[in-house]
Amino acid sequence: MSGWDVAWLRGRDLAIDLGTANTVIYARGRGVVLDEPSVVAVQTGTSHLLAAGTRAKEMLGRTPESVSAVRPLRDGVISDADVTERMIRWFVDQVAPSRLVRPRVVVCVPGDITGVERRALEDATLRSGARRVYVIEETMAAAIGAGLPVEETRASMVVDVGGGTTDVAVISLGGVVTSRTVRTGGDEIDEAIVSHLKSEYSLLLGERSAEDLKVAAGSAFPLAEELTGRVRGRDLVTGLPKTVSISSAEVRRAIETPVAQIVELVRTVLDVCPPELAGDVVDRGIALTGGGALLRGLDERLSHELGVPVRAADEPLHAVARGAGRCVEEFGALERVLVDNRRP
Ligand code: ADP
Ligand code: MG
Repeated sequence: MSGWDVAWLRGRDLAIDLGTANTVIYARGRGVVLDEPSVVAVQTGTSHLLAAGTRAKEMLGRTPESVSAVRPLRDGVISDADVTERMIRWFVDQVAPSRLVRPRVVVCVPGDITGVERRALEDATLRSGARRVYVIEETMAAAIGAGLPVEETRASMVVDVGGGTTDVAVISLGGVVTSRTVRTGGDEIDEAIVSHLKSEYSLLLGERSAEDLKVAAGSAFPLAEELTGRVRGRDLVTGLPKTVSISSAEVRRAIETPVAQIVELVRTVLDVCPPELAGDVVDRGIALTGGGALLRGLDERLSHELGVPVRAADEPLHAVARGAGRCVEEFGALERVLVDNRRP
């Protein structure tokens, strides 16, 4: 039996980034092994899971009445604990089918989670087959995943733009010093696109189509070469399908409100954090993580408005899982950032 098989039987410790939009799992010694939308398809009125992940996301907005496709974590915390637990179990089963030895699991939690919500998440993870559950603050994981020197005295700032929320944190000495969250993220940007097309073109878009347009032609800062995106929806006047072409400049105007909210959140955190640390951030810059980091020009927009260097992390959608994964690789070394990483 190869070493790999033996390790497999021993159980693989995991780090789980249970995001509002995507769940990413990192397995010890293997790296990121799963990246799926945090969507489940359930039998309507029950919590019986028919599918989870990509297959369930494809069903969003097009299910028969007997099936509902839902995002149980939509606003950043568990809105349906039972379904969330089943979703975690579904994903963990994909990457750790062995039930012989149950894995230790590091779960990432939002900074503003309440004690009750955190226990619900820990319980859900335990019931889904974990031997032991550790918790790490999402922004701390994002900072580690972005390669920031979180243990240093000098402060770093991370801005994680997810689906349901944007989280900003200033980190030094292995702890989160100042953090803020808003319920504005990629979803809100998609909704702004939906409402723009509705009011300007009488076009009704599904959330998937709005997201596709955002990815194809969305931006937060003028582009060197503006783009054109095409989007298909239902004409509210005729009731028939209709396709509209729209410039990136127009999409940018449509999403200005949520983008400005993200910029203001970062400005607030710079304002309220201790001045020495704000100085460190201005010197060293800000790391962007989460899927929203892929929005064109978000880095330039932030740096233009705040006068701070900004860079997107490599593979920003995996930054949180990679950061939590580092803790799984080095449980001992990184124990201090786990469980309780907020300084008194
Ligand atoms: P969460 O942690 O909440 O699950 P993620 O970090 O996975 O969120 O990011 C998901 C968000 O990123 C979604 O709103 C998605 O539309 C957005 N996103 C993904 N790719 C891009 C892209 N290329 N441009 C703009 N937004 C993107
Ligand atoms: Mg996230």
